[in-house]
Amino acid sequence: MGIVDEDVVRVREAADIVQVISAHTQLKRVGRSWSGLCPFHGEKSPSFSVNQEKGVFYCFGCQAKGDVITFVRDIDHLDFQGAVEQLASKVGITVRYTDKQEGERREKRSRLRDVMVDAVEWYHQRLLTAPDAGAARRYLRDRGFDGEMVRRYRIGWAPDDWDQLVRALKHPPKVLRDAGLGRESKRGGTNDFFRARVLFPIFDPQGDPIGFGGRMMPGGRPPKYQNTPETALYRKSKVLYGLNWAKDEAVRTNEFVICEGYTDVIGFAAVGVERAVATCGTALTDDHVRTLQRWAPRLVLAFDPDSAGQAAAERVYEWERKHEVEVAVAALPSGADPADLARTDPDALRRALDDAQPFLGFRIDRIMAAAKLTTPEGRARAAETALAAIAEHPSEFVRDQYVMTVADRCHLDAERLRASLRSGGVKPRVKTAEG
Ligand SMILES: [Zn+2]
Repeated sequence: MGIVDEDVVRVREAADIVQVISAHTQLKRVGRSWSGLCPFHGEKSPSFSVNQEKGVFYCFGCQAKGDVITFVRDIDHLDFQGAVEQLASKVGITVRYTDKQEGERREKRSRLRDVMVDAVEWYHQRLLTAPDAGAARRYLRDRGFDGEMVRRYRIGWAPDDWDQLVRALKHPPKVLRDAGLGRESKRGGTNDFFRARVLFPIFDPQGDPIGFGGRMMPGGRPPKYQNTPETALYRKSKVLYGLNWAKDEAVRTNEFVICEGYTDVIGFAAVGVERAVATCGTALTDDHVRTLQRWAPRLVLAFDPDSAGQAAAERVYEWERKHEVEVAVAALPSGADPADLARTDPDALRRALDDAQPFLGFRIDRIMAAAKLTTPEGRARAAETALAAIAEHPSEFVRDQYVMTVADRCHLDAERLRASLRSGGVKPRVKTAEG
């Protein structure tokens, strides 16, 4: 099952390997071939070579090699079929599939993608120019969005009306409903799904739009955020806002920053941190973590400290084990969200990342901060609570190091704490109770 061989060959021949690779590294002509810095490993002098005639690349440093399809597959972490599809859409070839149903599914998805592209553009122009978007423009300006940011993030405005989008876009109503842009009206017609909302388009990792996050205007009809419903393109348990922009810096720095909202991602970018993503109306899921670890092994949670403290420890350790990631928590001031901090105190926002702590260290610090360490009773209680948190960690050596920290801060003998931990005198808690 897959794309018919003949079409794979057509795509490979139609795609210009020098042009494709040039989007990722600067290539210079050297004799009969092209040369540049390898996009797969860090280097200061070029050992990456591309032969345009043969359509192949080779790196003398890391031995990466292949053709244009291999390149796209490896650089964008796609499977073979995904790489062929991406190239096919770039060069304007419609590929056929060996399995008819598979072909129909792909065709449907590609129709949805087309309508999403048109919708992003229509809503965006609406925000930029329509008289009824004046309040939305003011709202964004007041929150620190300048014109450049509005254009970069393709922010849009859904008018406060019944079916303006449905009537404006030249797509069948059924396709609009399937894309989550329209919904059936009481009279059997199709109305716009989004109404009177500022829209943040959500893109897949390759930069194709798949959905919207819609924020109500102050005083508007709740809920505060309304997202695209589940569609063939948009699955909220998998989607991460900002991944299309964040993945490059994440690869360079081995790290993602995970926030709670669209405006947090944009706030981080405004202070020069381009590796932030946000979940779209859900908590972080196993699927999200699996997606992120394809690009970077370290995940820094930039949540409000109160909600970060509530993250279920069991799940965090499970992710660390199963997906081989390291989960840390940014040192954000309580009650501050990154979007606000980006405007009021950019240095504090960057510092919060520099001072990020491992998940367990963050929890211990919060327990200590909330405890009364000036009395023996207070120190004993703090130690008990901290030991309960430590007991949840799967690694004996990690547990032991935190035991020593707690012993030190609570003026207790580390050996006594170890004995208490071993004897099961402290029970791991499923939910954290500190704070
Ligand atoms: Zn290389």
